[in-house]
Amino acid sequence: MLMRFLLCCGLATVAVSTQAMTLYKSVDANGLVFISDRYTPGALAFVIQERKVERPMLVVPKPNRPQQAYRYPLPWRGGPFRLTQGPNGTFSHTDSKSRYAMDIAMPEGTPIIAARSGMVVKTENEQVGRGNDASGNFVRVRHDDGSEAVYLHLKQGSVSVRVGQRVAVGNPLGLSGNTGNSSGPHLHFVVQRATEAGLVSIPYEFNQPVGALPNFALGN
Ligand SMILES: [Zn+2]
Repeated sequence: MLMRFLLCCGLATVAVSTQAMTLYKSVDANGLVFISDRYTPGALAFVIQERKVERPMLVVPKPNRPQQAYRYPLPWRGGPFRLTQGPNGTFSHTDSKSRYAMDIAMPEGTPIIAARSGMVVKTENEQVGRGNDASGNFVRVRHDDGSEAVYLHLKQGSVSVRVGQRVAVGNPLGLSGNTGNSSGPHLHFVVQRATEAGLVSIPYEFNQPVGALPNFALGN
């Protein structure tokens, strides 16, 4: 691979070219010597060679890789927390809307932050306990590529964004909770895409292991 890269780079060789120029030398009555690029009667023509050295140039080939999928920073502050159900989890990640969701156990009241920038398109903030919506309280953010991230089971009254608001990575959305179809305090994080058949869960990856230490560099 390295060899291929080096070959592709092709260090352009040092090019030496010469340029010729004709000058005319004449001497006046006082013995002063004049040199000009214009001919005057009696002048002596001579040719000079100008050496021109070009600097070596590094030619870097354009990378020919497919565009990398977006990798989500962990959407909470604090931790480390534990992944309790992953994609295709048999407990509840079995239908098309939640197949690739991940559940992360965390204490109620953990700050939930946007993992990707976009526009808030739906929220629920009033549900108590199990309530009648399996999602509990949630925030749905539509990203610029049309995909949507949903942060579910949030604490009642904790949602701090409104529909139509733009959020950037790291902006607070609410606090984690245990509302809706939730068997213990956790965040259900899912990325979906609208299709003719409705919203479907699509695979995604975090940019670090879920159980990793908080990334203090990111302020998490
Ligand atoms: Zn879940």
